[in-house]
Amino acid sequence: MRENSQQLFDKAQQFIPGGVNSPVRAFKAVGGTPVFMKSAKGPYLFDEDGNRYIELINSWGPMVLGHAHEIIEKAVSDALQRSFSFGAPTRKEVEIAELIVLMVPSVEKIRMVNSGTEATMSAIRLARGYTGRDKMIKFEGCYHGHGDSFLIAAGSGAVTFGTPDSPGVPKGVANDTLTARYNDLEHVKELIEANPNQVAAIILEPVAGNMGCVVPDPAFLKGLRELSTRNGILLIFDEVMTGFRLSRGGAQERFGVMPDLTTLGKIIGGGMPVGAYGGRKEIMDYVSPAGPVYQAGTLSGNPIAMAAGYAMLDYLNTHPETYQTLEDIGQKLATGIKNSLQKTGLSYTLNHIGSMLTLFFTDKAVFDFESAKTSDTALFGRYFHEMLNQGVYLAPSQYESLFFSTALTDAHIALILEANENALKKISR
Ligand code: PLP
Repeated sequence: MRENSQQLFDKAQQFIPGGVNSPVRAFKAVGGTPVFMKSAKGPYLFDEDGNRYIELINSWGPMVLGHAHEIIEKAVSDALQRSFSFGAPTRKEVEIAELIVLMVPSVEKIRMVNSGTEATMSAIRLARGYTGRDKMIKFEGCYHGHGDSFLIAAGSGAVTFGTPDSPGVPKGVANDTLTARYNDLEHVKELIEANPNQVAAIILEPVAGNMGCVVPDPAFLKGLRELSTRNGILLIFDEVMTGFRLSRGGAQERFGVMPDLTTLGKIIGGGMPVGAYGGRKEIMDYVSPAGPVYQAGTLSGNPIAMAAGYAMLDYLNTHPETYQTLEDIGQKLATGIKNSLQKTGLSYTLNHIGSMLTLFFTDKAVFDFESAKTSDTALFGRYFHEMLNQGVYLAPSQYESLFFSTALTDAHIALILEANENALKKISR
């Protein structure tokens, strides 16, 4: 049924570590062989064996309008006529910067990079340079890409594979990363008090997606804002997942809490490799060549990536109804999945906000990393495969969020809910 995927994976393992170019793709957390994809359109993925799947990850977030949306296809094909890279400034970079500043409330200036990892690494360097302090506070289970400073109690693939503290991170670097419990303001206060005038930044996913979907208590975000301001610390929202997804202006707009710096990725590139970091003018003007903090990139602001990103953001900016559509899809799926769960007697917690959702197999509320880890990951693995075999493609790990796209119609939602009910029945036997 998936023989070509199997053959490709066998060969891939000879030439690529673990057979994949990013760890979670390997299906290690759920067992079995990763599915090798050949094409995608709208809400569907098509694999190398000709199987079709309804897509609930959307390239881990970027494809918020579904795959190969015609507006983005056209923008990329037009840009291709004019060269793939200049290494010199272009009009589109100015236009996308202006658009991001218009859409994301706290961002006054923005620098484009090539990935979310680059965005967070650069933002932390900037925060350290700006404040003259070395330490930062991050939260257990949050993932901010694979920069050394962030691979301490990290989420996503790092926790999936049991390496939240990766070998290879120098002790000196690790010592400057303080970790706090998500949704626990008191813990943050204690860390700040124990490290007076030493903390440059507090960085967090304002809605976590990398320990599964974990929603913040609004008072937690407001409290972090106050603590940061009072102690001369920069508050960084890592909106690589939530930016342009949870609202036009991201989680900061949804919760009404403004960070000093914001990191972006995924949707901002419309599926091309793009990241960005931005924030208040006086902080961003510390970045080279305006200021002393160095950061650069040969392919940063790449014209093809900018064309795709601009087309995506322009569409979202001019079609605000997109966000209501995403809310409705998320609500219908959450309600439907819960209805089926209640019939099975399985222990579960379903965390959901907008178009992000995670089903945890636990009877505990999930509000931080410790509670996320109470879920039955073996049961999740069985659920994942039951869904896959019925043509629904989920994130292959318990510690990830699903991301919905506007390409899902009521008919797709009905198919997903039917598959979900069948899968839950099978695994609860
Ligand atoms: N920050 C968050 C919140 C993420 O979810 C991710 C990736 O999933 C990153 C940063 C890193 O982005 P990238 O994989 O583009 O380097």
